[in-house]
Amino acid sequence: MSSSVSPAVARLPSIDSLLRDPACQPLAERYGRDALLASLRQLLDDVREPVRHGQLGAAELSPAVLAGRVAERLAIQHRSRVRRVFNLTGTVLHTNLGRALLPDEAIEAVQIAARYPLNLEFDLGSGKRGDRDELIEGLIRDLTGAEAVTVVNNNAAAVLLTLNSLGARKEGIISRGELIEIGGAFRIPDIMARAGVKLHEVGTTNRTHAKDYEAAINPRSGLLMRVHASNYHIDGFTARVPTAELAELAHRHGLPLLEDLGSGSLLDLTRWGLPAEPTVRQALLDGADIVTFSGDKLLGGPQAGLIVGRKELIGKIKKNPLKRALRVDKLTLAALEAVLGLYRNPDRLAERLPSLRLLTRPQVDILAQAERLQPLFAATLGAGWAVSAVPALGMIGSGSQPVARLPSAALCLRPLTSKRLRGRQLHGLEAHLRDLPIPVLGRVDDDALWLDLRQLDDEDGFRGQLGHLAEEANR
Ligand SMILES: *Cc1c(COP(=O)(O)O)cnc(C)c1O
Repeated sequence: MSSSVSPAVARLPSIDSLLRDPACQPLAERYGRDALLASLRQLLDDVREPVRHGQLGAAELSPAVLAGRVAERLAIQHRSRVRRVFNLTGTVLHTNLGRALLPDEAIEAVQIAARYPLNLEFDLGSGKRGDRDELIEGLIRDLTGAEAVTVVNNNAAAVLLTLNSLGARKEGIISRGELIEIGGAFRIPDIMARAGVKLHEVGTTNRTHAKDYEAAINPRSGLLMRVHASNYHIDGFTARVPTAELAELAHRHGLPLLEDLGSGSLLDLTRWGLPAEPTVRQALLDGADIVTFSGDKLLGGPQAGLIVGRKELIGKIKKNPLKRALRVDKLTLAALEAVLGLYRNPDRLAERLPSLRLLTRPQVDILAQAERLQPLFAATLGAGWAVSAVPALGMIGSGSQPVARLPSAALCLRPLTSKRLRGRQLHGLEAHLRDLPIPVLGRVDDDALWLDLRQLDDEDGFRGQLGHLAEEANR
């Protein structure tokens, strides 16, 4: 067999000699001998062919150089799969990019909850067993006027649990215009079916009247439900029964009204110049018996589903065995309490809560930032690209105000080549941006790549990467 080994290949160091080489010792220490061995084998396999063709010289095959290459490979393999990115898509609460960013207060609370034992279900006053929901009940009562609260994994879980607790084996009455699908997997009819509630749809897609609900109520009715349309908008000839009227109707028939607010908001966002979102307090004042909403949409906290409303109904929901399967963990509760605490002082909320700070960033500031970065980007990308700083329109995201646009600003990167080549160039640039140490995500539209800078907090970190981009883009 050895007769078939070319002299060049025979010059490759052996695995054993590489393993013994001092350059490999720290790698064995760091990643373990097995991982190092596997990576060395792989590397030697990969270089055998180029070596046979004389493409690699002795210098490129020295133990130190090979150890360096193995170190790079191991570093990439062992890099965390959870990666920080720059979200320059223009969508602030981006579900695929982790939605709301937590404030420092919440991050500190999570650290303490992660590091030490805590009174998660222990009443320090009485010394008896406690209830995890009670950790935030007082805050929720003050901020929304609700009598009671229970918290689960997300709003989808909140809707499922509430429907199952209050309407199983009965009918749930809902307008046809509110049978929505969110994010491809959350569909009201499917959730209702899984909750064991029989869907009783009333009215039409664009118009539903009080008399439609009234006519649907029968001895098998269990609840009335209202769902925030979130990701779509019906315009034109429409009719919707106001919550107060719907609640009055439900109560007249002894039925609860459940309202899924989706994002919902604890405060009136128009005070910061943002589009109006229904508030939890108003839904409860209007007579909704139970309101559900997300923790990581406009609230600006961790992923969670909040179920708030009448004490007696919340009590029923908490007794459902499904609650145990859907409950939140201590890290979430710690973060949620800290975020809710910030709402006690609305005057400072826009500076302390990252999602609100980003949503309210003035367009002039963002445009100034785009103008600062424009020359750098133009120099980095070279003559093949037109780089401009321009006003742009972003969105809140996560089903809040799907048609409202946030006046923002972007770097617009447009390839100057023939139309035929543009698509490939744009996708190439997108891939280079995703390949940076901190991947940068933008949006392709109208033959250009747009980097909406509303969320570019860490401008220095972003600039620091442009060197890598120059290398990549000109390879
Ligand atoms: C977003 C949304 C949900 C799902 O909430 P998650 O917290 O993502 O589970 C449910 N209903 C409505 C109306 C929504 O907007």
